[in-house]
Amino acid sequence: MTKVYNFSAGPSMLPQAVLKQAQAEMLDWQGSGMSVMEMSHRGAEFMSIAKTLHDDLRELMAVPDNYQILFLQGGATAQFSFIPANILGDKHKACYINTGAWSEKAIKGAKSYCDVVVSATSEANNFTSIPERSTWNIDEQAAYLHYTPNETIHGVEFQDIPDVGDLPLVADMSSNILSRHIDVSKFGLIYAGTQKNMGPAGAAVVIVRDDLIGKAQKSLPDIFNYEKQAKQESMLNTPATYTWYLVGLVLQWLKAQGGVAAIEQINQRKAKSLYAAIDQSALYSNPVAVADRSRMNVPFILSDDTLDKAFLSTAKEQGFLALKGHRSVGGMRASIYNAMPESGVEALIQFMAEFERTH
Ligand code: PMP
Repeated sequence: MTKVYNFSAGPSMLPQAVLKQAQAEMLDWQGSGMSVMEMSHRGAEFMSIAKTLHDDLRELMAVPDNYQILFLQGGATAQFSFIPANILGDKHKACYINTGAWSEKAIKGAKSYCDVVVSATSEANNFTSIPERSTWNIDEQAAYLHYTPNETIHGVEFQDIPDVGDLPLVADMSSNILSRHIDVSKFGLIYAGTQKNMGPAGAAVVIVRDDLIGKAQKSLPDIFNYEKQAKQESMLNTPATYTWYLVGLVLQWLKAQGGVAAIEQINQRKAKSLYAAIDQSALYSNPVAVADRSRMNVPFILSDDTLDKAFLSTAKEQGFLALKGHRSVGGMRASIYNAMPESGVEALIQFMAEFERTH
């Protein structure tokens, strides 16, 4: 196979070592005579995979004991609705910060359950920056405040955890979980689809503080109820077993890289080099306020958009895949999650410079 680098926003590149291990274990997991796909989720083999998965995530993110870790189906999108349905309790409103397309979807999901107070929005500048914390209008009567630490489409990322006083802070970390150190104890709830930094699609992780569990609306089916799922260790029904297994392999890979602190340094370097290359070019530009630029998703446009097609086709020929920007914003986007090696980013930078020189 020719060497390719996949810059897809998700599902996205996985570490080669993980894919190779999955390949080696595909037909016979550790002498069990079965593929993980064929195992009973209640059997001893799969139970050990599930336990290691939970333990490793707790260790990597230093999740305190008073938080439950759930792996649920329906992706991050399902949580847009299940978060309010689970944690509003007797409150009727929730605050949301709108920093882009994924915040908007979370707001839409919540509106079926409660009044949404949009505490701040950067819509006026096309989501190219994060509204100053001092301008946020926080309603103390709200059940929680929701934000999207990394907007996958707009390429905008919070560099710090916002202080919202006593309100539980809820974060959609789908596109930056495990990419940088975060203090879990500052959050009420963290959730993320698995298909970017954690593995393949098929699950969403929900890390939720104990005091937010047990307030679900009565009409909520058990399968979506955090308390019921926590009691059953996310196995109220058959979980996405193969996805759990692969996420487990990714977490073991990340531990072998030195954990979140080590990968954060690499992510910092990758993003820094790519933005520097974009900023010094006459052809490429990135519209996001420098302080709010994402380390994971780097959107950029070509000053002459008639070159877009040639850029994408030449990139593909040379093994740089999935660089087309999201249809809602156009241009290009390079997603450089944990599994993208520094060599991939360096090769992309060289390719971009060469394309600029010849066009
Ligand atoms: N939130 C963010 C920040 C995302 O990037 C995505 C997917 N790209 C989602 C939510 C939706 O995830 P899912 O497809 O797992 O529902």
